[in-house]
Amino acid sequence: ATPTAVMVATGKGASLGVLIKGGSALEKAHKVKTVIFDKTGTLTMGKPAVVHTMLFSSCTLQEVCRLAAAAEANSEHPISKALVEHAKKLHEMYGSSNDHMIDVNDFEVHPGAGVSAFVCGKLVLVGNKRLMLSSQVPISAKVEKYVMETEHLARTCVLVAINGVILGAFAVSDPIKPEALRVVSFLRSMGITSIMVTGDNQATANAIAKDVGIDSVFAETDPAGKAERIKNLQAKGLNVAMVGDGINDSLALAAADVGMAIGAGTNVAIEAADVVLMKSDLADVITAIDLSRKTISRIR
Ligand code: ADP
Ligand code: MG
Repeated sequence: ATPTAVMVATGKGASLGVLIKGGSALEKAHKVKTVIFDKTGTLTMGKPAVVHTMLFSSCTLQEVCRLAAAAEANSEHPISKALVEHAKKLHEMYGSSNDHMIDVNDFEVHPGAGVSAFVCGKLVLVGNKRLMLSSQVPISAKVEKYVMETEHLARTCVLVAINGVILGAFAVSDPIKPEALRVVSFLRSMGITSIMVTGDNQATANAIAKDVGIDSVFAETDPAGKAERIKNLQAKGLNVAMVGDGINDSLALAAADVGMAIGAGTNVAIEAADVVLMKSDLADVITAIDLSRKTISRIR
């Protein structure tokens, strides 16, 4: 495209809340045949909440919740915030005392798995099955069943182990963005295939994908794995767009032909992307591709 055409399209994009960094993204976007969406914070709101709890011991819910929230208190992960928020609500309802006196040591983040810490001298693990298995915490048939049921409801199951025994679990639900289904089906009508990629487990990922009309899912994928998926598709000659919001999406956003960051996402993602969706509205994925198609066709 001519510099003038690029300038006009970039200006039009900016007025629509679609920030296009440079002409190259604009030149490539019209060729996109595949859009890869991150799950958490991209297809979903990224604001998970605790929607169900389960106890596997005679321990009280308040006690499990208090210890889990203390372990999660130093983490920025959306799941951590959901647990801390839930504990706060329980506390307001039942008003257990001296919460400020909880002492937390050796806090550790386990990426894609959960967190651990010593809370009041007890080893507290909060996370998924992978975290429990890597710490040699046994998973009973009852726990296994609860995890499976939770995941099939499109929820993420967060297990809480104290001193090596799973005492309780939280089902965390992150609502799907209202426009997600509509955008995926419109992309299909444009001849564009949508794929989901996520660090979350297969069953939860499948359930969310089904709700938004995506057939193809790559679950339990770490940041490097997300970028790897894109390179594999590119090796088949496909032009790939990636839409993401997290630090864990930045490698993939950089690897894609067109990286699109959710405006409400992390700075790292915004910096790695070619396009920023300022309104955080998934429909603007279509706006960006459309702008490119119109710009290119006007020139030829
Ligand atoms: P995504 O790619 O969907 O953003 P992450 O890679 O951040 O997901 O996390 C993958 C999974 O690891 C989560 O679904 C959850 O099961 C577990 N997990 C990660 N961080 C935490 C945490 N702070 N507390 C509990 N579980 C966690
Ligand atoms: Mg995300």
